[in-house]
Amino acid sequence: MHEFELIKTIFDRHGANHIQADIIKGIGDDAAVISPPMGRQLVVCTDTLVQGRHFFGEWERVEALAFDIGYKAAMVNLSDIASMGAKPHSLLLALSLPQRLNNKTWLTCFADGLFSACADSGETVSLVGGDTTAGDMLVLTITALGFGEHIVYRHGAKMGDDIFVTGCIGDASKALDDIRKHGTSPIQDKLYRPMARTQLGQELASVAHAMIDISDGLAQDLGHILEQSGVGAHLYLDALPASDELAKLDLPTQLQYQLTGGDEYELIFTAPKNACLPTDCPMYRIGEITTTQGVQLSFNGRLLDQDAPYPFLTYPTLDGFSHF
Ligand code: ADP
Ligand code: MG
Repeated sequence: MHEFELIKTIFDRHGANHIQADIIKGIGDDAAVISPPMGRQLVVCTDTLVQGRHFFGEWERVEALAFDIGYKAAMVNLSDIASMGAKPHSLLLALSLPQRLNNKTWLTCFADGLFSACADSGETVSLVGGDTTAGDMLVLTITALGFGEHIVYRHGAKMGDDIFVTGCIGDASKALDDIRKHGTSPIQDKLYRPMARTQLGQELASVAHAMIDISDGLAQDLGHILEQSGVGAHLYLDALPASDELAKLDLPTQLQYQLTGGDEYELIFTAPKNACLPTDCPMYRIGEITTTQGVQLSFNGRLLDQDAPYPFLTYPTLDGFSHF
């Protein structure tokens, strides 16, 4: 499809009739124009997905997964806005599009995925602009805009805070391993269709001291909170929530997925003891903030020894995903 036809028919779904009154100008001019709500702060983030790195490299798979790729690209950005305690507002999409995928079927499926993620977030989120170029591989960069009142940073954790996670973790990386081995997984939706904690993030904004979403693994992402807050943590391994599927695995394997598996998009947050937390979503207390540096692990109340980590044979790995 020609660039202008593509933008008009595939991405400019709402045309001039914006469903958000504060979007003065969306797609169609040199830049979008938004009227920011009074007294709110603009929260903005961007994330790139590269074919062969963030999703499969094989053309057949990329062709078959058009919807999921669009869905996830939008959702990971909505998750970053949620983890700041802000309300998502709009997206921009920079697309490097290989000739092979430049057809109406693929592009429509991809856009359906992107707009479905916006709708599933439970907020009104519009695509207000972007850029389209030809490329050898599919590369997607989405920028998300949101507005927040009480922003929750990584640096706010305080000694004595409880540490919580907002749902079961480890399934996305287990699904990825399944797919690599068998081509499919009974829990592949956890990988392909993550769900950003959009409402919960906003509800937590007034209680959480620090917050982050899990993109690279629980231990590593919690590590960012600890480092930026200048504190340590005691993590209760027995309290990490596992789905029924993950609970079928032996304990060390299960823990490895929970501690180091990325692509989860659940939130980790810290809050003062006895804080009044939202009750409409499962939340698991998985540890507490301490003054000792780094992470101490315990199992059923007993601290794990680095040299003799009973009940495990080896001390659990805490590394997460890294690009380099
Ligand atoms: P310019 O040449 O000034 O950068 P473009 O011709 O690239 O403008 O884009 C025209 C309009 O279409 C702009 O409003 C831009 O934001 C929008 N646009 C371009 N590509 C996309 C895309 N992939 N998704 C959404 N909007 C897009
Ligand atoms: Mg341009």
